[in-house]
Amino acid sequence: MNVSEARAIAVRRLTQPDVPAPVRLGTPGLDADLLLSKRLDLPRAFLMAHPERSLDGLEGAFFADIARRATGEPVAYLTGTREFWGLSFKVTPAVLIPKPDTETLVERALEILSVFPGAPAVLDVCTGSGCVAVSLAHALPRSLVAATDISAAALEVARENAARLVGAGRIAFEEGDLREGLPAPPATDTAAPQGWDLIVSNPPYVPSAVVPELLADGRMEPELALDGGADGLDLVRPLARLAFDSLRPGGRLLVETGEYNAREAARVFEACGFSDIVVGRDLEGQDRTVEGRKPDER
Ligand code: GLN
Repeated sequence: MNVSEARAIAVRRLTQPDVPAPVRLGTPGLDADLLLSKRLDLPRAFLMAHPERSLDGLEGAFFADIARRATGEPVAYLTGTREFWGLSFKVTPAVLIPKPDTETLVERALEILSVFPGAPAVLDVCTGSGCVAVSLAHALPRSLVAATDISAAALEVARENAARLVGAGRIAFEEGDLREGLPAPPATDTAAPQGWDLIVSNPPYVPSAVVPELLADGRMEPELALDGGADGLDLVRPLARLAFDSLRPGGRLLVETGEYNAREAARVFEACGFSDIVVGRDLEGQDRTVEGRKPDER
């Protein structure tokens, strides 16, 4: 069987009525291409240019992938990789799949850091696959980046991504529950006030009642990375409180939220003492990030 035939059969399968709507009405052609590219270990562009190329005995493996995709299993978990911020990240079901929404967070973090002189100290809380921490370390070679997660399995994935994309040892990883405290900022030998310049996070922020709906399409993402309690802000509240204490004066906290709880998160920031609070939008125009500044000492 050749690529063009395999692709046509795959698309037909992925558009059957028993397939979850997000898959069926999503991008079945692209999904098939990505899975073919992974199985044949050939770039997608090559497959486009060579539809007559034979699957060479890999038909069974490819259609097994398609069968799993037809139950809603994400392409990223099947291929084990996902592109984010122009980099290719390893993903497993222990981590949330990096989303374009979160690129908004990276973009804003880089804007904030562009005005910091020297080597900024950045902490990424709830790092998951490490996509935010690694993207920032990659974009800012002089930055000091640390990252934490409560999940040892997630940290293993993040460490692997860091080692491959920015070099082992470039990011300081620490396992821990953010509610029990944040890592201390790197010590500086100047008299300047100590503290992180930026704390960034994509914490679990989905209201508990919404999580089952979200997972009903078979996307298999870890509940631990999604469930933010009754209003989705159970982790944002301690994060804002603890971040305020470990930022340096003038430092920023930047957090991803849901479009439904960004305004409430902004009020949490305000109650913790942050100033200059801004709610940022994602590419679809939805409220997606909340940031605040720790006021200068006076
Ligand atoms: N909106 C995100 C998703 O669907 C939720 C991520 C989160 O809770 N941090 O993956």
